[in-house]
Amino acid sequence: MKYTTSEKEILSLVTTYNGISRKQLSEISDLSQASITKITKKLIDEQFIMEGERISNGLGRKEVLLYSNPQKFTFLGIDIGGYLVRFALANNSMEILHQEEFFMAELDDYKNKGEALLERLVLFLGNTQILPSNIDAIGIGVTGLVDKEQKTILNIPNRKGWDDIQIIDTFKQTFSCPIFLDEGGRMMAIAEKTLGKAKETRDFISVQIGFGIVSGIMINDQLLRGSSNVSSLLGHITADENAGRCLCGNYGCLENIITFPMLEIEYKKRKGQYASIVEAYESNDKIAIEICIDTGRALGIALSNVVNLFNPSAIYIGGPIFDALPLLFEETKRTIILRANRFATLTLSLEENSFGQQQGIIGALTFAKINFISRL
Ligand SMILES: [Zn+2]
Repeated sequence: MKYTTSEKEILSLVTTYNGISRKQLSEISDLSQASITKITKKLIDEQFIMEGERISNGLGRKEVLLYSNPQKFTFLGIDIGGYLVRFALANNSMEILHQEEFFMAELDDYKNKGEALLERLVLFLGNTQILPSNIDAIGIGVTGLVDKEQKTILNIPNRKGWDDIQIIDTFKQTFSCPIFLDEGGRMMAIAEKTLGKAKETRDFISVQIGFGIVSGIMINDQLLRGSSNVSSLLGHITADENAGRCLCGNYGCLENIITFPMLEIEYKKRKGQYASIVEAYESNDKIAIEICIDTGRALGIALSNVVNLFNPSAIYIGGPIFDALPLLFEETKRTIILRANRFATLTLSLEENSFGQQQGIIGALTFAKINFISRL
């Protein structure tokens, strides 16, 4: 059965605001209350959504809240980072049912990365009650370059051997459901937009820093892709040309300065005495603090440029670096306020992202569902 644009819009809104009244749906969608009544009846009859509890609307009347029916669909998310790979299965309410992660290095010895990844995935599914044929859509996020057709991983800059991986074709051997591929930073922006803090934000940037740097830029509710799908490659903009050669082949990329391994290298270079920069920071070590200030400033300068170019109303930033080294985050914020145009920073909020380490995998799951709905 084909669904209308309005029906799909209501399905998306119920996904986003899981627990929403018909009146609120009408206000947000601009559809009349009569249309909403008709559409929601159809979606309830077909078990896409369901009625939950009644809440008071403040005027003595009670309104019923609508939810996604968790049983209706099952989605699979795959988050391929430079360091970790995550698999997760979620129900139609975007609740994670099963999840697993492993080191990307475990796939280093395999020549055919796509096949190796698929083998791991089949093992993961084998440990659940869910068969490949039970999955309704798959979302794959990758910390790297994806071709314009969104079928092939062109390159993962900080991992060797991940060039020209025709991942969709490989996965089609096992799965008959639709499979959607995109860059990981964009997935994180989608997670923020659909389920996180950016539900009502049209212009924002999502940034994640761990063992690599990814970002997603959403302008006027549209993800920025660029002419060859390379846009938002924040980790590989030049931040200090003296900072050495990056794994991508360029010199002085932001990733050469501010990922976890790079911070450790810098700590050793400056002759720090502690075993790790995190341990040193926790003991108020002077070198660790200086590195946080220097690298926070470098990131702040990079983001100031982004703020001036795109004028977002929010930057959602996350990753283990900020949890472990909060001063770095403070210095980043301070630099942005200092460097970016004051008319742009006036309306800018800089916040931690909604899902922390889970941002990428929740993004991949959400991406699967959103694309799935759009094709209904
Ligand atoms: Zn680079």
